[in-house]
Amino acid sequence: MSKDIYLVLAGGVGAAKFIEGLVKVIDQESLKIIVNTGDDIELFGLKICPDLDIITYTLSNLVDKNKGWGFIDDTFNCLEILKNFYDSGWFNAGDKDLAIHIYRTDLFKRGYSKSEITKMICEKLGVKPLLIPMSNEPVETYIKTRTETMHFEEYFIKHQCAPEVIGVEFRGIEQAKPVDGILEYIKKARKIIVCPSNPIVSIGTILRVSGLKEALMKVKEKVYAISPIIKGTTVKGPADKLMKSVGFEASCVGVAKYYKEILGNFIIDNEDGKLKPIIENLGINTYCFNTLMTNINKKEELARFVINL
Ligand code: GDP
Repeated sequence: MSKDIYLVLAGGVGAAKFIEGLVKVIDQESLKIIVNTGDDIELFGLKICPDLDIITYTLSNLVDKNKGWGFIDDTFNCLEILKNFYDSGWFNAGDKDLAIHIYRTDLFKRGYSKSEITKMICEKLGVKPLLIPMSNEPVETYIKTRTETMHFEEYFIKHQCAPEVIGVEFRGIEQAKPVDGILEYIKKARKIIVCPSNPIVSIGTILRVSGLKEALMKVKEKVYAISPIIKGTTVKGPADKLMKSVGFEASCVGVAKYYKEILGNFIIDNEDGKLKPIIENLGINTYCFNTLMTNINKKEELARFVINL
């Protein structure tokens, strides 16, 4: 008998927290994770895929759990020297992290695609679920502020999300095709879970890949999303500001409206319980649960709740 497939759409830190709980509830081999690559960036001559790395390090138990990104017990000696030569020293690449970026860049030079490289890295690090970059074509997210347009990572890390955002650009998205297998998994999956990730620059980027949103719209009754916004603010990061910058309210209602075309089911936080009828009026089945994942038990409880719905 063929096993059920669970398909997950993921950004970085928020997604990794949920996925850590999910692998305690379902068979890891049944899990396929489509990861945003719009944050990818080339620095120090190296190819860096922040969201893929966060999910990979989390699933291989190598992640720095306090930060939610980077390797545990990493050092920053190489970066200290690189700062003499590059002004991109704001990107906090640790020594162990840089080893991954070197290996990935070498594989790119040898002609492998992003999805093949991801598989090779995951195999070596003992990651059991299948990680699939949303697209093999390069996509880069840029943030427009009043004074300049900058790469999302520069806005996020160097500027700590401080500048006012007036728009978001997804460079290369017109050429981006879904990696082989993604559309098949969308059809076959028992459930499709949209992680609590940034709706605009993580999930929104994935949804812009050619044909992906249309495929999800056809199966929206099996799509379940978890709100990354609780009581009108994000747990971490700029999702609330970015929602407003593209004309949506910063609340779980705003997220529901943003996902409306692909969403059959939405999990909002208990704290937002009074907003449930508003979301149900959009034609979305809505459930309340404690979605704040402050420890592994809470991650697992949330994952079990979503799987059992
Ligand atoms: P990042 O870009 O690497 O930070 O990662 P993501 O795109 O995956 O996620 C960021 C989003 O996850 C933010 O909007 C956070 O509010 C949300 N998030 C982080 N932790 C939690 C949590 O414990 N519960 C919920 N509901 N959302 C969370």
